[in-house]
Amino acid sequence: MTCTVTVLGATGSIGRSTADLLDQHRDRFRVAAVAGGKDAAALARVARELGAGFAALSDPDGGPALRDALAGSGIACGAGPEAVIEAASRDADLVVAAVSGAAGLTPTHAAIRLGRTVALANKESLVCAGDAFMRDAKRYGARILPMDSEHNALAQAIGEGRIDDITRMTITASGGPFRTAPRERIAAASAAEAAAHPTWSMGMKINIDSATLMNKGLELVEAHHLFSIDAARLDVVVHPQSIVHGLVTWRDGAVTAGLAMPDMRVPIAHCLGIGDRLSIARGRPVDLAATGSLTFERPDEERFPCLRIARAALAAGGAQPTVMNAANEIAVAAFIAGRIGFYDIAALVERACEDFAARFPAAPADVAEALAIDDEVRRWSTRALAA
Ligand code: NDP
Ligand code: MG
Repeated sequence: MTCTVTVLGATGSIGRSTADLLDQHRDRFRVAAVAGGKDAAALARVARELGAGFAALSDPDGGPALRDALAGSGIACGAGPEAVIEAASRDADLVVAAVSGAAGLTPTHAAIRLGRTVALANKESLVCAGDAFMRDAKRYGARILPMDSEHNALAQAIGEGRIDDITRMTITASGGPFRTAPRERIAAASAAEAAAHPTWSMGMKINIDSATLMNKGLELVEAHHLFSIDAARLDVVVHPQSIVHGLVTWRDGAVTAGLAMPDMRVPIAHCLGIGDRLSIARGRPVDLAATGSLTFERPDEERFPCLRIARAALAAGGAQPTVMNAANEIAVAAFIAGRIGFYDIAALVERACEDFAARFPAAPADVAEALAIDDEVRRWSTRALAA
């Protein structure tokens, strides 16, 4: 039976890996819609390649370029945020949510409200508005498949097991490019150095988050919501080889781990298969004897304060993760632009969490409230950086 798929964020790193798999398994999939942000030419290319029914660009000004690039293809298109919602709402068996950042919330939530099966890469949806997303998924009968590699590995490791029987869930971190660097060296790092990820190939924002370890912090919040597990049972361990992605420790001391080479196509294929296993052309199997050793170490929260800040935000609950995510996005953008240093990211995020703690005590009740908090914290962060 053909599976109809929509890809939000089709031109990004996850989007391209998804397109590769859809192309490899053409007989199995039909592409309902693809959506992107600003790059009309890249979106038109992926839409043609996949024979999508509809292509949506978030940037309204890119409409004419997208229309021109799709001329003669028979692919319908639209531009502006509403067009992206339309793409997310088209009839589909599976919606891949791979927009980067808080921009992913509204289209991902549109798919949830329609009760779709959503393969979730956009972790920010759960960090900003996790309670609302999980509640609405239940309310509207939507299924969320974790696409983030650690959470996908955890889901596979849990299998039919009960969350109550789990005493610890551990996600691994590669440690990023500065795992062994002294603090002074890290303090002077440029965006290009921070983006040079040792094991994974990813988008710019998540690369920087991996260097600061904020990515692991976001992933703790993500795991808390996906698996309804309390912060006290969540742990992070640094594993530079990036082969073990998630570990579940059961009540009796047994541990079930999820392993794969660091290739996002593995968790993506797991989601696309919705229960079936898909082969991956040019995929590399795990070869433990060739790898030789798998090593593990505790993360250093002195050199990587973002992890400590994220743990505190998760433990405090309320709107703290929402605030943290918004401040982090502004700080990371400023770091990429060369306007602030590496440790200024953590400093800004921590200040935002402190400043807004009393103002926004409760977790956002819905996506609109999450986006309102997000917007306010972004404006505050932008002003704080300009001061
Ligand atoms: P990229 O930056 O590579 O891609 C982002 C995609 O989103 C692009 O297609 C971009 O289009 C599109 N986009 C941006 N804004 C909008 C918008 N408003 N509406 C529609 N589309 C938009 O990011 P990644 O692929 O690296 O990451 C995507 C998500 O997946 C993130 O949430 C990330 O945390 C998560 N993730 C990524 C992993 C990875 O290996 N890359 C691993 C695990 C999770 P354009 O380029 O035209 O702006
Ligand atoms: Mg991950």
